[in-house]
Amino acid sequence: MGASDFLPIMPSAAERCVYDGGQWRPASGGSRPVVEPATGRVLGQVGIASAADMQAAIDRAAAAQKAWAASAPRERAAVLLKAAQALQARFDDYAMAIARETGGIVPKGQHEVREAIVLCQVAAGLPMQAQGHVLPSTPGRSSLAKRVPHGVVGVISPFNFPLILGIRSVAPALALGNAVVLKPDPRTPYSGGVIMAEVFEQAGLPAGLLQVLPGDGEAGETLVTDPRVPMIAFTGSPGVGRRIGELAGRHLKKVSLELGGANNLIVLEDADLDATASAVAFGAWFHQGQICMASNRVLVHASVMEGLKQRLVGKATHLPVGDGASGRVALGPMIDAKQLARFDTLVQDSIRAGATLEAGGSSEGLCYKPTVLSGVQPGMRCFDEEPFGPLVNLVSFSSDEEAVRLANHSQGGLAAAVIGRDVSRALAIGEQLHAGMVHINDQTVNDDAVNPFGGPGLGGNGSAVGGPADIDEYTRWQWVTVRAALPGFPF
Ligand code: NAP
Repeated sequence: MGASDFLPIMPSAAERCVYDGGQWRPASGGSRPVVEPATGRVLGQVGIASAADMQAAIDRAAAAQKAWAASAPRERAAVLLKAAQALQARFDDYAMAIARETGGIVPKGQHEVREAIVLCQVAAGLPMQAQGHVLPSTPGRSSLAKRVPHGVVGVISPFNFPLILGIRSVAPALALGNAVVLKPDPRTPYSGGVIMAEVFEQAGLPAGLLQVLPGDGEAGETLVTDPRVPMIAFTGSPGVGRRIGELAGRHLKKVSLELGGANNLIVLEDADLDATASAVAFGAWFHQGQICMASNRVLVHASVMEGLKQRLVGKATHLPVGDGASGRVALGPMIDAKQLARFDTLVQDSIRAGATLEAGGSSEGLCYKPTVLSGVQPGMRCFDEEPFGPLVNLVSFSSDEEAVRLANHSQGGLAAAVIGRDVSRALAIGEQLHAGMVHINDQTVNDDAVNPFGGPGLGGNGSAVGGPADIDEYTRWQWVTVRAALPGFPF
């Protein structure tokens, strides 16, 4: 796209506003530019919610939720299906807008919209599946366990896959009879908020049930501490996740923490190195490594290390980097200068600690070159911390036991993968890894919309979202007993 055909993406009605009660209302916490990372151009002005805006939105959400919870399950299902259709109707526009706002390549934008459609379709089945139990009881008394919605669910989401990471909570929570107050990252308010407001409005969702308030920590903490919001679904960094978890604990709320951590990809000596290099490159560099499941630690059998390293250096040198929306590059920019500086410091500190820079290690604008470090060991920042940038960390091992020991030298993580021709051996290794998701003969970036997603330790608080986990996440149990008349009591 040239300078002359540059288009802002924020709808004018949404600029400097929050979406509350089915309307875009001026945000009282001010506004900020939404910047296209690849070009530095301003895509619009996002409204920043104040604590007062958040409280008003929670009021309206709580008021709207009761009638929604009492509506027929098929009515809720119909809204979710219409939201999927509304996403499909603007597939190309939304995919391109996501590419531009998040700095991703266009296929990444298309992936987000495709997944969002499936997430709405899957959620449409939930109202009919939220079954309870008839429990054994005493004579003359019926005893039921039934699923009831929490009420208002607070959703806080990050910048990297804003549509998927918002709608994966918004869709099932709404389907199961909750209202949702969504706080997207203000760097990506269109992908993480405006799109959802638009498609659910078109789908006929009654006003107040989806409130979208971009904002910073003040708005986020108001959401987390308000007593009318009994559940928080948070996706983001382990640091902020700890804070959210502490606040939720103090306020006795249910909290789902989907965080980050170490993702190990183990390469055994019988792996096909050409195919493995491609898998590693995708797992580590897709969306500039800004993925919670990125293959950020690559543990390679010493006998094939050199061969794999050469192949990865070749890819790092040749993969084009630039404006993702141009359709001509494999890697786009990092989201902003702060993320780039944090990542570069981690790379340079690791080199000072003894890692060898094989490729990359520098940037142009916000575009960081795909980077390969070898000789990586525990104690180096690139091994101990989540890089969240385009980095392959090559770690050498000589036995299966050593591979497992190195991989489990972490405080937990989301995903792990093992690549090798002997599937039984690869699976035996995979089953010993401290990870929430394990893939054999694949890289670590996988999500299917119907799988339970989550991980232990820094990966989160052990809860999972998605697929079979959603009914448990977004409802609570209520025990109900019924007798025809009062029984006798001993007092
Ligand atoms: P982050 O800094 O934790 O931010 C995530 C969200 O939390 C943003 O909306 C942020 O808003 C908000 N926030 C920050 N401080 C808050 C507070 N005190 N109270 C309430 N909300 C607050 O995460 P990030 O750096 O943007 O995202 C990268 C991290 O997310 C990585 O660690 C990655 O692994 C993880 N992640 C996990 C998953 C998963 O599914 N497990 C998926 C994607 C990413 P502001 O931007 O305004 O601060």
